[in-house]
Amino acid sequence: MLKYGRGRFKFGKIVLRYNIECDQRCSRLSVEELNDKGAMRMTTNGSSTSSNFIQNIINEDFDTNKYGGRVHTRFPPEPNGYLHIGHAKSICLNFGLAAKNGGLCNLRFDDTNPSKEEVEYVDSIKTDVKWLGFDWDDRMYYASDYFDQLYEYAVQLIKTGQAYVCDLSAEETRDYRGTLTEPGKPSPYRDRSVEENLDLFERMKAGEFPEGARVLRAKIDMASPNLNMRDPVIYRIMKASHHRTGDKWCIYPMYDYAHPISDSIEGITHSICTLEFEDHRPLYDWTLDALKIYHPQQIEFARLNLTYTVMSKRKLRQLVEEGYVSGWDDPRMPTISGLRRRGYTPEAIRDFCEDIGVAKANSMVDIAMLEHSIREYLNSRAPRVMAVLRPLKVVIDNYPAGQVEELDAEINPENPAMGTRKVPFSREIYIEQDDFLEDPPKKFFRLSPGNEVRLKHAYIIKCERVVKDEKTGAIIELHCAYDPETRSGSGSTRKVKGTLHWVSAAHAVPAEVRLYDHLFNRENPDEEKDFKSCINTNSLETLTACLVEPGLAGAPLGSRFQFLRHGYFIVDPVDAKPGALVFNRIVSLKDSWAKIMKKNG
Ligand code: ATP
Ligand code: MG
Repeated sequence: MLKYGRGRFKFGKIVLRYNIECDQRCSRLSVEELNDKGAMRMTTNGSSTSSNFIQNIINEDFDTNKYGGRVHTRFPPEPNGYLHIGHAKSICLNFGLAAKNGGLCNLRFDDTNPSKEEVEYVDSIKTDVKWLGFDWDDRMYYASDYFDQLYEYAVQLIKTGQAYVCDLSAEETRDYRGTLTEPGKPSPYRDRSVEENLDLFERMKAGEFPEGARVLRAKIDMASPNLNMRDPVIYRIMKASHHRTGDKWCIYPMYDYAHPISDSIEGITHSICTLEFEDHRPLYDWTLDALKIYHPQQIEFARLNLTYTVMSKRKLRQLVEEGYVSGWDDPRMPTISGLRRRGYTPEAIRDFCEDIGVAKANSMVDIAMLEHSIREYLNSRAPRVMAVLRPLKVVIDNYPAGQVEELDAEINPENPAMGTRKVPFSREIYIEQDDFLEDPPKKFFRLSPGNEVRLKHAYIIKCERVVKDEKTGAIIELHCAYDPETRSGSGSTRKVKGTLHWVSAAHAVPAEVRLYDHLFNRENPDEEKDFKSCINTNSLETLTACLVEPGLAGAPLGSRFQFLRHGYFIVDPVDAKPGALVFNRIVSLKDSWAKIMKKNG
């Protein structure tokens, strides 16, 4: 009998390993056949599998009881910028693996570099992780919590002859290090006595030497083919105030030294990081082995890259500081705060992170896939409404002046349980300017002189006259006639090819609408010499004369709607005010990702 959890069964020579996982969204059964060639995986949940190669490693570790059945991960952001969608992948992976395996995940700020870190970033990171739906409970740590311990361990390395104080300048150190094809040369300070090293390191800590005068280096192997192992610097002098430890320290540990020890102190089992740290793993392992302390394992996965997007915090900060965007939370930014303001939901982001999976090789994910995730989420949830973004007035000459009908309109055809709403109809309405052409091409099924269209939820109208500005020739208004027998829902069987959305002139509510496009106009801005050379200067279009149906008048900040034929929109949580609606377009309705999937079968 299968039980929730994991285990094995045997059928003669065949050994199957099963894993049943449950989370809020679904349960999954995965079964692997353990044969000579390795594992073959089948997953039965119909959709994507939540399993990945890291889960396989965890499964192995359960089998061999490597960590006593524990899974303990951490998400270790450096507080030097706001989190982006790439971090969301890492958050979902670390917190997700812990949750799926009955384990824990810590939030740890990697604040070893005092010159770059700011409290604003710490606060935003906490907000973003929580908003994504994850909780570190009481396990929020800072690498700076361990500065005393890290110092003690450095002293220990000196005492065991595994670290030394080096006086070479940064430039000399680079020269001595060698290259990929040439081994390095030992520093002339490499063989200092333990006593001298202890004395100098102590005096580095006491602030006796200027920045750059001396460093502490691990004594590993200057001939190693891995440059990271050629006596890497583990402490440097920095006369900078730290956001948590103030002026207590003027020497600070390097990331490669602080990270494995922080993992070890916290009892992390699986230290998951991105691929560029693969070459640093030998140093991770060396540090823990040299200190003879508890040893987690580092596992690398491919970072998320998205088309038309840059993901480095340094580059994102440049966009903010140089005014290309309005801030870290500009709705065009790939930051979590930007996506939130744009209208993305945590569920859609988590689904996206699940769908892209976890790989061992770097690749580029089509941004259409991210957009697909929010469409999928909103399709059955967002109320449908009518909004005219570029209004053109239509007078229905045969409709009684002063009459108003409250028409019934379904709120969401994908979800009939959401019911219906009332939409007022009257003699003067607005339609979209581009829904009318005076001289239409063939197959233009919208409005044109003498042509008929249906007004959504209302009547069929026919265009009878076009009024133009005498001087400019611009179209000012249309005069139409309606067919009173064709009211929607009245059983009328008359069909026309086009259906237009509209708003009643006397009832519509004004709104500002912001339409967004990709921030960059090349697929991979990182490939350009200067990523800013391909900034899309048309990434924001602000329309200030829009009209929306009256039911939206009091729409709360952050509420989401589908504007028929235009896409999904959110009431901007920052700029909208009572009586002054501002909408951000989350995403248009055109789903290029669904199309790609369909084409590929
Ligand atoms: P950036 O280059 O954007 O500054 P970073 O790696 O320096 O990113 P950290 O704050 O150090 O940023 O990252 C915290 C965690 O998030 C790390 O474990 C890192 O590997 C992971 N991470 C960062 N960027 C991505 C990404 N694009 N895809 C997946 N994980 C990422
Ligand atoms: Mg980093």
